[in-house]
Amino acid sequence: MTAPFVMLVDDEVTFVETMAKRLEKRNIETLIALSGEESLEALKTHQDLDVIVLDVKMPGMDGLETLKRIKQELPLIEVIMLTGHATIQSGIEGMKLGAYDFLTKPCDVEELVSKINDAANKKREHEEKIMDAERKDLLLKYEP
Ligand SMILES: [Mg+2]
Repeated sequence: MTAPFVMLVDDEVTFVETMAKRLEKRNIETLIALSGEESLEALKTHQDLDVIVLDVKMPGMDGLETLKRIKQELPLIEVIMLTGHATIQSGIEGMKLGAYDFLTKPCDVEELVSKINDAANKKREHEEKIMDAERKDLLLKYEP
């Protein structure tokens, strides 16, 4: 499998920069966005993203609103929410809105990496199923 392509969305600059370096070391291609708005803008030019790691608490557009918009734009992208201990409820709410999972901050790098890989696998399997179905549909249409 090719390396997962991930976008980290968080308003804490040091957190995203440090985490991005750690993910890159573990063969995960990483893009950074410092707000919900910025992540939606980046989504337009990076539709090949596999996973988005999304902070719940951000100034401006918060994580849940950003999640809704991401899922509207690209429903197959898997999203992992990052919550504080006080905002676990938002993580649960996120899962109801289609997020793959959530982690509480400060999160363990290995745990995040493992969730990213699982989420990327799920997304790719889902895409393959859709392509298979489309192929079958085409075959049926053109069967003599
Ligand atoms: Mg934050």
